[in-house]
Amino acid sequence: MISPEFYKNKNIVVVGYGKTGQSAVNALKSVSANVYLLNDSMVDSQYYCTIDEIDWTNVDYMMVSPGVSLVWNASPAVSLARKFSVPIINDIDILQQSINAKLVAVTGTNGKSTTTSLIYYMLAENGAFAEIGGNFGTPALSLKKNADFYVLELSSYQLESCNILGFDFSVLLNIASDHLTRHGGINGYIAMKQKIFAHSRADSVAVIGVDDEYCQHLFDHVNHKNVIQISGKNVPNFGIGWANNKLIDDRRGNSEFVCHRCETLDGEHNRQNIAAAYAVCSCAGVSKEVFAEKLFAFKGLEHRQELVKTINGVQYVNDSKATNADSVEQALRRFDNIIWILGGRAKEDGIERLIPYFSKIRCAFLIGEIALEWHELLSRYNVKNEVSVTLNNAVQSAYQLAKKGDVVLLSTACASFDQFRSFEDRGDNFKRLVETLPC
Ligand code: ADP
Repeated sequence: MISPEFYKNKNIVVVGYGKTGQSAVNALKSVSANVYLLNDSMVDSQYYCTIDEIDWTNVDYMMVSPGVSLVWNASPAVSLARKFSVPIINDIDILQQSINAKLVAVTGTNGKSTTTSLIYYMLAENGAFAEIGGNFGTPALSLKKNADFYVLELSSYQLESCNILGFDFSVLLNIASDHLTRHGGINGYIAMKQKIFAHSRADSVAVIGVDDEYCQHLFDHVNHKNVIQISGKNVPNFGIGWANNKLIDDRRGNSEFVCHRCETLDGEHNRQNIAAAYAVCSCAGVSKEVFAEKLFAFKGLEHRQELVKTINGVQYVNDSKATNADSVEQALRRFDNIIWILGGRAKEDGIERLIPYFSKIRCAFLIGEIALEWHELLSRYNVKNEVSVTLNNAVQSAYQLAKKGDVVLLSTACASFDQFRSFEDRGDNFKRLVETLPC
């Protein structure tokens, strides 16, 4: 656990008692901070109190969890902190103040976890003491002390409340519409993502994926001394990207070869992730040779275009993490003869952007709350489809229909919470169902 000594004896209000809040309370108490814990509902903690029990004139800081919005629909605690001029911070700020190490921060609409894991893996394989966390896995303040590198996945929610920024390495992979309600539209969302580059220093490195127009625009206008453009599609001028299935480093204008494409981490989207990871790792001391060798040993993450099993020549792919249209697009682009399982609790961006891929769909099986609505949409575009309602029905129907060469793809473009605890839970259920199918 991190020791945030700076907060010793300080009065700090912690808002939210999920994973982040719990980890913050533990870390802050370990250095004898005075913690006042607020939460929407009562929680089982001796530090829990209500807003009225706090002497706001005496509060030094307020630490918010990622679920707490500061901009749109700010909570009563946020309003009070502002009224009493209490600085609002988050756990990433506290981590930054408490360590003497290099901080790597990765954000983007999609690919954060994959890229963060790949960077962490490379740094660790190269012999550094690296820690990985943030939005992915372990909350920042529960990471081990004294690492050389902290590799953090940051969501737009976390960036919203980050203040003491200034990362050594900041990566923005891509921007597509997601979480628009929370950020009041695409401009609000971009503004949060862009915060990752704030307060850069002369020796810090910024990496930007330039494969979408929003990020290209940010690259053209970013105020940063050392910025590297990367792509999953081509080799940007003086940047890092792909040509003829090879990763090329053109930072010095001499198109240096780094490595060949990697089958376990393939597709344009993963090439973007690999290029970004290479940009960071090469600046952090990992040689081209080590990167090239270790890339092929990296397994990729569960629930991201994960091949579960091949049964009778049919591939069953678990892409449960694809909760928005942009990430589903990567899977639809990659595969052919698709039997598509989609649906759940819909997000704001819908699936209209996937229409160009509809000709690749042999049949779609719809689950969850949005099933009837998307049944109409798919039928309008003559995509054969069926409302299955449950994942179990969808998997059984897909199995009955599938023939050699098909891909049964769970890639829902939806959140899972209408039927599952999380995308992991949905993906695990899919895997269990696939495992029980007769061979
Ligand atoms: P995040 O942590 O940002 O959600 P993940 O690495 O967990 O990203 O991947 C989530 C989903 O997005 C998966 O379906 C994966 O196939 C897809 N994906 C991964 N990298 C990218 C990328 N660079 N661009 C678009 N989609 C991606």
